[in-house]
Amino acid sequence: MKKILLYNTLNRKKEEFKPLKSGELSFYYCGPTVYWTQHIGNLRGSVCADLVHRTFKYLNYEVSMVRNYTDVGHLVSDEDEGEDKIEKTAKKENVSPKEIADKYIKVYENDIAKINILEPRFKPRATEYISEMIDLVQVLVAKGYAYSSDLAIYFDISKFKNYTALSRQKIEKNKSGAGRGAISDQGKKNQQDFALWFFKAGEHKNALQFWASPFFSPLVESGFGFPGWHLECSAMIKSLLGNTIDIHMGGVEHVSVHHTNEIAQSEAANGVKLADYWIHNEHLLVNDGKMSKSQGTSYSLSEIEEKGFKVLALRFFFLQAHYRSKQNFTFEALKAAQKGLSNIENKIIKLGSKVGEVSDDFKKVFLKDLLDDFNLPKTLAILSEIFKSDLSNEDKLATILDFDKVWGLNFCNLLKRGEDKEKLSDEVDKIIKEREAARESKDFEKSDELRLKLEKMGYKVEDSLRGTVLKK
Ligand code: AMP
Ligand code: ZN
Repeated sequence: MKKILLYNTLNRKKEEFKPLKSGELSFYYCGPTVYWTQHIGNLRGSVCADLVHRTFKYLNYEVSMVRNYTDVGHLVSDEDEGEDKIEKTAKKENVSPKEIADKYIKVYENDIAKINILEPRFKPRATEYISEMIDLVQVLVAKGYAYSSDLAIYFDISKFKNYTALSRQKIEKNKSGAGRGAISDQGKKNQQDFALWFFKAGEHKNALQFWASPFFSPLVESGFGFPGWHLECSAMIKSLLGNTIDIHMGGVEHVSVHHTNEIAQSEAANGVKLADYWIHNEHLLVNDGKMSKSQGTSYSLSEIEEKGFKVLALRFFFLQAHYRSKQNFTFEALKAAQKGLSNIENKIIKLGSKVGEVSDDFKKVFLKDLLDDFNLPKTLAILSEIFKSDLSNEDKLATILDFDKVWGLNFCNLLKRGEDKEKLSDEVDKIIKEREAARESKDFEKSDELRLKLEKMGYKVEDSLRGTVLKK
């Protein structure tokens, strides 16, 4: 097995990866809360997780990846305050929470397929694991880690040693208020205590999604309520992957609250470590600032497409920054990425369609960079070396296609397009050639005329540096 180095947030250093079971990877990625269209920042996180997924697959690991959908319990504040995000949108759009989740899961899945993210083995929805969540809370209550108030069952962080192991934050014990709802109002013992189960009471009196539970509050019957967001991940991990997993990943903002709380409740309940390695991806900035809805900079993928960009150009752009660095998005940078990608595709087309052998020498360099904490930007730099090298065209192509199993830039489609082209009738072929010649000599009027002709014959015409691509 190759030596893999990865930066473990838990220990704040690069460590050699040692799987729990040889040749296998259990991998959990905190997926989206499906209450709106994910912006390209969210997508950067999903692509970073995909690169980890692809890397292990490339190394022939048997990968069990879980990427969940949070469809209940994620409040407007990441802590225990405010309305449930899904329900807030449901009320605004006047539909059920389930319809909201269905709608935005569909949008998300559509987007990530376009940006060529591999399917994880499991895509659980939190609402499908309510009884497992209740079981977990019962264990925590029985072990003395949880207590109830009229409004919620809380996790008592003072009972859990090393609560701040991941975040390394100092906590101010038993301090109330500090700008948030006073802890006494919520019935909490410590400011950082967090809800495992919210009763359908108080500010959640009108919750739309709720389930019966064995927990008691004088304010509701049948223990009606819903799980806390942190608990959901702990229950899904336990159910689908087991008590201890290899890698847990998520956005960097989850270190201080969400992941810290996942660790506390899972480890308190199960008595073993939750994950051996914690990976966190940094955020995408726009024009050097936070992505912001109010400033109109939280772009969705369809907005990027509407502006004429190819989705894979965005993927190529993401590959250019290390996952632990902030990346700044501008349309100029995306334009440059699109141009860069087209140039590469152009060069690949020129290699022909015969696939030879993967170069061992280049593969060594590729793996060295890839397995050094997923240094994708460095692996891309190898491309120009491959083109310049004295390898045969067939071997260049084989090597590039091999590395693209990790990059995910769909270079293999370039070959398929070549094949499609061969199957076109002579007449169509003749028009394409005429049109390409017209474009070459900048006779755009004629090229447009010929494009219309092809469209009338039932083809969709796409131009690129590679020449004409036809779709039926
Ligand atoms: P949410 O839907 O709010 O739960 O967020 C889904 C994921 O997107 C989380 O894992 C966040 O870490 C991630 N995320 C949110 N904003 C950004 C950003 N600007 N750049 C990268 N990832 C982000
Ligand atoms: Zn999570």
